[in-house]
Amino acid sequence: MTQAAAPFTSQLAASLAAGVEERLVRYAKVDTQSARGPRERSPSTPGQLDLSRLLVTELHALGLDDAALDGNGYVMATLPATVDAARDVVIGLVAHVDVSPDAPAEGVEPIVHRAYDGGILVLPRGGTVLDPATMPELAQKIGHDIVTSSGDTLLGADDKAGVAEIMTAIAHLAAHPELPRPTLRICFTPDEEIGEGATLFDIDAFGARCAYTLDGSEIGELQDETFTAAAVTFTITGVDVHPGFATGKLVNAATVASHLIAALPVDRLTPTTTSGKEGFIHVVEVRGEAGTATVELIVRDFDDDLLAQHVAFATDTAEQVVARFPGATLETHARAQYPNMKAHLDPFPEVVDKALAAIADEGLEPVRTSIRGGTDGSVLSARGLPTPNLFTGGHEYHSVREWASVQDMAAASAVVIHLAAQWATAD
Ligand SMILES: [Zn+2]
Repeated sequence: MTQAAAPFTSQLAASLAAGVEERLVRYAKVDTQSARGPRERSPSTPGQLDLSRLLVTELHALGLDDAALDGNGYVMATLPATVDAARDVVIGLVAHVDVSPDAPAEGVEPIVHRAYDGGILVLPRGGTVLDPATMPELAQKIGHDIVTSSGDTLLGADDKAGVAEIMTAIAHLAAHPELPRPTLRICFTPDEEIGEGATLFDIDAFGARCAYTLDGSEIGELQDETFTAAAVTFTITGVDVHPGFATGKLVNAATVASHLIAALPVDRLTPTTTSGKEGFIHVVEVRGEAGTATVELIVRDFDDDLLAQHVAFATDTAEQVVARFPGATLETHARAQYPNMKAHLDPFPEVVDKALAAIADEGLEPVRTSIRGGTDGSVLSARGLPTPNLFTGGHEYHSVREWASVQDMAAASAVVIHLAAQWATAD
């Protein structure tokens, strides 16, 4: 028996579905994986420019004549207003072209599973299955057209769903000048997944009053709060001596590092044991030998004071452990990564209010949530461009199980069109 196709959230969404699906599938095939480690240039990988150049070409074809790629790999373009200058404001739409370095991303072959029947989706490669029993969001998408990878790579809906939704909304608005819209500025950023998406973003050139990233997940969500993030690097220097002559002399830095990690809590303050608004300390990388060892931590909280406490706690723990090994020395390097956007959005309540209204205009119940992570908007908001985050309809990001609903992507694209109308017509 075939499953009946799910209804769309609106006629508008139904008219956008083919466009978002076709774009996501096409963009997903371009390898835009970003690379961690010190960046010699922006973007960190040349593949991102392949997609960015393609987007410039497509924006030109839609009539956005100023579309261009800047020297750091950012695509910017303008869709002019249809309201008169007295009403006009400049509103930004932002998505990132890179995909996560945390899963294979070469040779992505998207598959569209039509009218999902609610069962286990078995992907052809890598033994990958999507089981609705462990994926409650998937279980709710019966009848939807579900896009996945072929099982041995990520899909890259994070954030090519967002790119496809913005491009589809812009194509619709460009073809419908009778619809009210303010000046829309579009930016497609590189290297978001390595925390650099906003660092070289030219906010002055962008010239928007506020912006919206399309980089969220479940339909209806709007996110106006993120973690505040810090990274801490502990470098332990030991005393390296040939082990055959080491009696009373050798101090093994790798051993000291293992004691340091063992001294950090496992029953609290970890990603595994926290949820909601609770922060954590997370060991992301360990490298070591007898002479020197490095432990990299990331530290997260929604509250800046608590974040500072977690950093101090980790640092105190490291100092106490290293002090138990005379001869070993510790160097600590703590740095801020991105701030919670909430404090930077609160002075501009209309930015979130208009997004909530646009979601309601699509017939959806807006769900305001916080992100246990960061977005381009975290840094952009702190740099003076208030930028909350909208849903995309993608799920299971950074994994080979990543999937997106065409119906929900179409709804996200429709919300962008409503958002333009909100800024052009509301008081
Ligand atoms: Zn993303």
